[in-house]
Amino acid sequence: MAEDTDVIVVGAGLAGLVAATEITDAGKRVIVVDQEGEQSLGGQAFWSFGGLFLVDSPEQRRLGIKDSYDLALQDWMGSAGFDRDEDLWPRRWAEAYVAFAAGEKRGWLRAMGHRIFPVVGWAERGGYDAMSHGNSVPRFHVTWGTGPGIVEPFERRAREAQSNGRLTFKFRHRVDALLTTNGTVDGVSGAILEPDKTARGQSSSRRVTGNFTLRAQAVIIASGGIGGNHDLVRQNWPKRLGVAPANMISGVPEHVDGRMIGITEAAGARVINRDRMWHYVEGIRNWSPIWPRHGIRILPGPSSMWFDAAGRRLPSPLFPGSDTLGQLQYIMSTGYDYSWFVLTQSIIKKEFALSGSEQNPDLTGKSWMMTARRATNKGAPAPVEAFKAHGVDFTVRDSLADLVPAMNALVDNDLLKTEALKAQIEARDREITNAYAKDTQVLNIHNARRYIGDRLIRTARPHRILDPAHGPLIAVKLNILTRKTLGGFETDLDSRVFGGDGKIMPGLYAVGEAAGFGGGGMHGYRSLEGTFLGGCLFSGRNAGRAAAKAVS
Ligand SMILES: Cc1cc2nc3c(=O)[nH]c(=O)nc-3n(C[C@H](O)[C@H](O)[C@H](O)COP(=O)(O)OP(=O)(O)OC[C@H]3O[C@@H](n4cnc5c(N)ncnc54)[C@H](O)[C@@H]3O)c2cc1C
Repeated sequence: MAEDTDVIVVGAGLAGLVAATEITDAGKRVIVVDQEGEQSLGGQAFWSFGGLFLVDSPEQRRLGIKDSYDLALQDWMGSAGFDRDEDLWPRRWAEAYVAFAAGEKRGWLRAMGHRIFPVVGWAERGGYDAMSHGNSVPRFHVTWGTGPGIVEPFERRAREAQSNGRLTFKFRHRVDALLTTNGTVDGVSGAILEPDKTARGQSSSRRVTGNFTLRAQAVIIASGGIGGNHDLVRQNWPKRLGVAPANMISGVPEHVDGRMIGITEAAGARVINRDRMWHYVEGIRNWSPIWPRHGIRILPGPSSMWFDAAGRRLPSPLFPGSDTLGQLQYIMSTGYDYSWFVLTQSIIKKEFALSGSEQNPDLTGKSWMMTARRATNKGAPAPVEAFKAHGVDFTVRDSLADLVPAMNALVDNDLLKTEALKAQIEARDREITNAYAKDTQVLNIHNARRYIGDRLIRTARPHRILDPAHGPLIAVKLNILTRKTLGGFETDLDSRVFGGDGKIMPGLYAVGEAAGFGGGGMHGYRSLEGTFLGGCLFSGRNAGRAAAKAVS
């Protein structure tokens, strides 16, 4: 059968672009198909914050952070909690990925022009024992230029390959089936969708104008996860997290529809760990949405007080930024699908960051002048202030007596009692000026401020929440925000896909979120953050190199 190219890549997100450019660099030809238009090139990565998990980097060392492969692997394994037979390949991927993050990753990117903002963030800090969840040290390296800055080198390489004829993009081509000849996956077929000029990230038309078939020696699935498809999220929701939330908002565009996972499964591929997902609990409804149910994740510093729907403080160590899955589990156990931050103006201006390239014009626009304002602390970044002014989940008042009724009004119930909140906040406030505090969140704040990066731009000077000098008081209703799919196609370290019979399916590879970022779930149950883009880079690179070698 005549081949149209050497390899077909399904999906022009980060993982697909990395795989495709590795193939063309090896002198082979590739066709990249995507259901969206050219304006959406780069997929989710474009919208991302560009945070990357790196281990023992020069940026860390400059800030006095001592990190190592062993410490990072200890953290990774404590977070992953691998406990299943099918974790064999995910565990191998985890080990290989941590080695990549401690080794080649930074230099490989740097050689392509990628740069990093010098202050390293400290995500998912845990709060349990040494062998449990969390980053022992700050490891979240933000790309200078955020999401577009991580897409840029791969788009550039892809455009070069396009101009020398090795790479062909086929946008508005939606794959509906995989084709197989004598047991080898060797093509795709599907629908050509009508041209649509809607802006990047917006939902595009699904009207079909024709059909297509493409043949190659290998096919790489790089179609992303399921976060934009709430039906699939609910279907895969694990019992250990209670009943799926009645209300969720979307942290990803609608094209993250999970459809290709079912199509590939129908062709015989094995999906594992589909009940492992990474959704956030600090979601706020976007007052200026781009995609349906568009939500933004707050990346919180450590000082906001966190209350459940009934007004009880979340138990230790479920502080902002400690343990996303633990927080989700706790919140779902309350019988409600939302919770509250209560904080001050002083906290919001120093501690609130919003995830997403469009919410960080200073870093995305590579403006040192604008970025420096984060440290001078003159006010909250403009996008945060805009949310405070326009966001439906924000309530701002001068006194707690006025704040609590407004919070109740927002959710249309009377679950919160002013006196009960007051007692808890006053108790915490008594601890905040005490250098030997017993309140573990307060201890956590003091610990954060021992790290220069946090003290500079992420942790407010300790103060009483009810001190009017730090007001006004702010309450934020926090929604569950869908984002990442941690399970996916089971793959070996070359990203080759296993079939339901446990044997490699010849010709088929899977990368990025569709492959659980490698192996079918290299994160296990939890992420240390900044690991998703990295998983796309690593699995895309492995697949591209392996496929290029495999095709003649
Ligand atoms: C706002 C935001 C912030 C984030 N911040 C970070 C961060 O700081 N650090 C981090 O590590 N991660 C972050 N992430 C996560 C990370 O961006 C994603 O996990 C990653 O980019 C997924 O890349 P992918 O290539 O696997 O899939 P995607 O980017 O989803 O690309 C898949 C592509 O496949 C196409 N496709 C799907 N099905 C078909 C089909 N049937 N036919 C043809 N085409 C199809 C889609 O249209 C899409 O273009 C963030 C994500 C978002 C949305």
